[in-house]
Amino acid sequence: MTSRRDFIKKSAFASAFVIGGLPKLGKSEPLTRSNDAVRKPIVLSTWTHGKPANDAAWKILSAGGRALDAVEQGVMVVEADPTNLSVGLGGYPDRDGHVTLDACIMDEKGNCGSVAFLEHILHPVSVARMVMEKTPHVMLVGEGAYQFALANGFKKSSQEMTAEVKEAWQKWQTANNYQPTIDKNNHDTIGMVAMDTNGDLSGSCTTSGVAWKMHGRVGDSPIIGDGLYVDNEVGAACATGLGESVIKICGTHLIVELMRNGKTPQQACEEAIQRIAKKQSNYKTFQVGFLALNKNGDVGAYSIGKDFNYALAVNGENKLYDSDYLVKE
Ligand code: ASP
Repeated sequence: MTSRRDFIKKSAFASAFVIGGLPKLGKSEPLTRSNDAVRKPIVLSTWTHGKPANDAAWKILSAGGRALDAVEQGVMVVEADPTNLSVGLGGYPDRDGHVTLDACIMDEKGNCGSVAFLEHILHPVSVARMVMEKTPHVMLVGEGAYQFALANGFKKSSQEMTAEVKEAWQKWQTANNYQPTIDKNNHDTIGMVAMDTNGDLSGSCTTSGVAWKMHGRVGDSPIIGDGLYVDNEVGAACATGLGESVIKICGTHLIVELMRNGKTPQQACEEAIQRIAKKQSNYKTFQVGFLALNKNGDVGAYSIGKDFNYALAVNGENKLYDSDYLVKE
């Protein structure tokens, strides 16, 4: 099977960059400030597709806009890209051929909204925001989320599976005996966290989930405290990778609580990955990556295995970095 990682490396990314040529993530820059000044505005997001997403977010942040608007507009760029195989309606389907989308958003006041198992809607993150702003609930799923979206002005998308996606799905069906696939390459959600010029934090997360999942499966991405968590007193974190693993440790909530207790964003991300390694004996068979940001504008990034990268926009520059990781062999 052509994995989503492979595809992304071969197409969008390979033309412009070489993975081995990315700036290496060191223990100082770009993770921490070079002096005591708070680094803001700032936005970071997962994977190579984080770069165009950060560009859109930066337009809002650099004009003094709210982090919440930035993290919504930022990830919408990736949701709208029909060639992206892991986010939005262009994503790989579940094992029955349905593209089902998960997304969430959280603001500086602790408000949050989420949708899961949503079909036919181009911008699940915006539906999540509407759940947050227009309902007394946090999470809507499936048909209920879809009907809510339609009732609130979202249109049913006519986007169909591309021939390439259909071919990949058919190949998977032949090769895998209808068993969901858990491996190191089956991931690529966009998670984004940002701080605006007021020093307020927000975050978003949106995905089509792991490819070839069971129909009805929901991962970490739309779950507050798993795919995304924001606490404006402390910091924010987002996740990518095998959602089941992140859910088992309440990954992003854990990271924010570790930062509350004095860890740097980098230390907090590393401890969360180590928690997975300690509790989940098969951790070398899959990937998880975390990003974190604190109120000073310090950043953390860490993953189980190699090849996790992220985009960081700060001081007017938006660059890709390779994350450090646990399993070096
Ligand atoms: N975290 C996502 C999920 O488990 C997968 C990904 O990162 O692409 O659905």
